[in-house]
Amino acid sequence: MIRTPRGTKDILPSDMKKWNFIEQKFAETCKLFSYKEIRTPIFENTEVFSGGVGEGTDIVGKEMYTFDDRGGNQMTLRPEMTASLVRSAIEHNLMDTGVQRLWYYGPFFRYERPQKGRQRQFHQFGAELLGSASPMADIEIISLCTQLISSCGIRNYKLLLNSLGNKSSRAKYLSNLKDYLKDNRDNLSEVSQTRLEQNPLRILDSKSPDDRKIIDSAPLLINFLDDKSSDHFAKVKELLSTININYEVEPKLVRGLDYYSHTVFEFQSTSLGAQDAFGGGGRYNELFEQLGGKNVPAVGFAMGAERLLLILESLGKLPKDEECIDIYIISADKNIEDIICKTRDYLLSENISTLCDINSRSFKAQFKEANKLNAKWVLIIGTNEIESGKFTLKNMQTSEQIEILISEIPSYINKL
Ligand code: AMP
Repeated sequence: MIRTPRGTKDILPSDMKKWNFIEQKFAETCKLFSYKEIRTPIFENTEVFSGGVGEGTDIVGKEMYTFDDRGGNQMTLRPEMTASLVRSAIEHNLMDTGVQRLWYYGPFFRYERPQKGRQRQFHQFGAELLGSASPMADIEIISLCTQLISSCGIRNYKLLLNSLGNKSSRAKYLSNLKDYLKDNRDNLSEVSQTRLEQNPLRILDSKSPDDRKIIDSAPLLINFLDDKSSDHFAKVKELLSTININYEVEPKLVRGLDYYSHTVFEFQSTSLGAQDAFGGGGRYNELFEQLGGKNVPAVGFAMGAERLLLILESLGKLPKDEECIDIYIISADKNIEDIICKTRDYLLSENISTLCDINSRSFKAQFKEANKLNAKWVLIIGTNEIESGKFTLKNMQTSEQIEILISEIPSYINKL
């Protein structure tokens, strides 16, 4: 049997209602906040991510699906959206018309070790607010997330917050952190030793017990913020409190990507196990320039659809996959296909969802099917009915039956 590739999943028809539920919640939330949808290609020139996300990151270093196309160009299946979206905003001069509020949804690809809540093809919802350096923009993005989370019915989650400061604060901190880590090099895990030169910030995310001991006493970025960066962070915290969004400052939260500056945040849930982050984001004031654009401050977030579904599943908050149709046509006579087709065609044209048996099954089996499909009505067509021109319409809830002309059915059932 040929199966789906490791780390990918089919989304079967029976799962679709759940997916549509969260997709709809997200689209509604974005509409409420006046965000517009954007779609970009699933693959991009690799430089979008190597230049945007950063060579030293796990995503670019070891998780990208990169290939040469038949023309010899190096392409990558998008591992995240922000770099693609910024590429698109630059390419189409979107900033010429001022602040952009954009949302997206779709599949993303990372070559990771699959486990619960971690796949190689997964789906993200996200929103990006381009063209503002104000803490109000950070707040808008975070509040869009909390609105989405609460509209789904999730109450139990944590919002972790940190500031990575501006470039110069970060540079000062990085050299300090590097010195500290170098002094402790021999006690660091092998992975962290290799990260020391390229991406020392990532070491702070390490889960290795050896690393944790060293990280616990590492210098904190928050103590290196210059006045401007501190003011920005203070305002973000103040505004979050003003609109009653609870948060915890987590000084070691750095997130995996190079492009963040100032505010970074992550949503965590206890319903998820090891992969407890279900969304996150932050400010990225330098990404536009990194990708060849002008200076455009921006902030955004991404939320994992699979993890959101896992949380909602554990809370029992997902809609059930229940089918429901208006009318199921049952025929007692095998030779009246033309009448059944005509009747069904008429009812469908009147916007009445109608199904009928297409496998010549018994009368009993057809009734069973009508029940399974939660049909509100069954329409029985047999030889007697054809002769009289009136068919039997049975209300499946009350079991009441009436004789009715086909042309009277729409007004009859719409009245009830
Ligand atoms: P990131 O782009 O790494 O900040 O991830 C944002 C969110 O996407 C995470 O909080 C997860 O919910 C989700 N996510 C990231 N990587 C994966 C993955 N490999 N499988 C499933 N969900 C993921």
